[in-house]
Amino acid sequence: MLEKVLIANRGEIALRILRACREMGIRTVAVHSTADEDAMHVRLADETVCIGPPSAAESYLNIPAIISAAEITDADAIHPGYGFLSENANFASIVEEHGITFVGPTSEHIRLMGDKVVAKETAKRLGIPVVPGSAGAITNDVEALQTAHEIGFPVIVKASAGGGGRGMKVAHTPEQMSEVLSTARAEAKSAFGNDTLYMEKYLETPRHIEIQVIGDSHGNAVHLGERDCSMQRRHQKILEEAPSPALNAKSRAEIGERVANAIRELGYRGVGTVEFLYENGEFFFIEMNTRIQVEHPVTEMITGIDLVREQLRIASGAPLSFGQEDVHINGHAIECRINAENAKTFTPNPGKVTDFHVPGGFGVRIDSALYNGYTIPPYYDSLVAKLIVHGANRNECLMRLRRSLMEFVVGGVDTTIPLHLDLINNKDFIDGTYNIHWLEKYIQSANG
Ligand code: ADP
Repeated sequence: MLEKVLIANRGEIALRILRACREMGIRTVAVHSTADEDAMHVRLADETVCIGPPSAAESYLNIPAIISAAEITDADAIHPGYGFLSENANFASIVEEHGITFVGPTSEHIRLMGDKVVAKETAKRLGIPVVPGSAGAITNDVEALQTAHEIGFPVIVKASAGGGGRGMKVAHTPEQMSEVLSTARAEAKSAFGNDTLYMEKYLETPRHIEIQVIGDSHGNAVHLGERDCSMQRRHQKILEEAPSPALNAKSRAEIGERVANAIRELGYRGVGTVEFLYENGEFFFIEMNTRIQVEHPVTEMITGIDLVREQLRIASGAPLSFGQEDVHINGHAIECRINAENAKTFTPNPGKVTDFHVPGGFGVRIDSALYNGYTIPPYYDSLVAKLIVHGANRNECLMRLRRSLMEFVVGGVDTTIPLHLDLINNKDFIDGTYNIHWLEKYIQSANG
């Protein structure tokens, strides 16, 4: 088993990893920027190393500084969390070249799925249905227009190196094509340093349903059911639930098995998420994430499986501690992402937390690195807490979520708790009939 893990991340996920390590008797190294000296995971870690100034480029993305910290502290593994370097194939291979274990898939698998055009081709080859679209990357505007006519408007143009919901543009008519292509290209170039684009049919009423998978280095792979992440703003998830209100046991088992088989065929190691759009009873692959996800706790709550513990076990070379027949879905779970943002304008609102009272009780989990008196720095993502609630069924889960949100107090900074309180009283959410475009429309009408 691993003895000492360096956590190359910050915030709630750094704390989540630290907690799993401690429960397993693994020592921890927290690396942090100068802005995170007072962070909870830094306070709790066995050892700490400051790796640079506040800017992420000079600290949490600073590969030489992170590798040096691992060498100085004699860490035998690096856990990248999510975001930052978690899907950087180059980082994974540098870590391994230094004789340090990367807690994640091989760099080849990260590279394969990091290029979305290649990922779609791979999915297709493995028998997974994909969103109809361009065959590979878009080479020129004339061809792009022809492809758009073939698949039918509206179409969505996406960056092959994209992520975080950025670099996507929709064209509703042929006349919009050339402008959509040039803005998407410029955005992709500036955000990802790569202007390769591809095109898909723009689906108008889909749900976002993703399958959690896990594989080990012994050829085993299983799925842990789905998460429904259709509650989105600007293509970013706001709330996730499992199971999806749209699936039944048969459709869940079918798509799960298909995905687990594909992952097994790939020889995939570690946790991963295969993302789909789901419309009119059909699944369409959009991408695969080769890391632990923000919303992993909903899966943990309904399966009882600790995904971060499994990641650490797999990285140690151990086989999966369970088989497909041991995975049972129990009840319902919902996660609310709580951001330090104004709940109406979504303007980030970092600053000092003057009050922090979290809900508790049966079936309630808080993943957060906040504490009373902590100052949220302005340099990073605004996600500051996740409230995850479990119930015997969806209705019980909704009731528990409502009372938990009512108990939750974060003073001193604006948070998105009021948005979640609005959602929990909304009929479409209660009925579970929302799709990926629902929240945008809801926010527009709420803001008049
Ligand atoms: P990213 O990696 O940036 O998150 P994804 O490909 O995973 O990009 O897509 C993110 C979200 O964008 C999806 O959950 C969905 O809401 C929207 N989206 C992506 N592709 C399509 C499509 N073909 N039609 C409609 N919406 C889409």
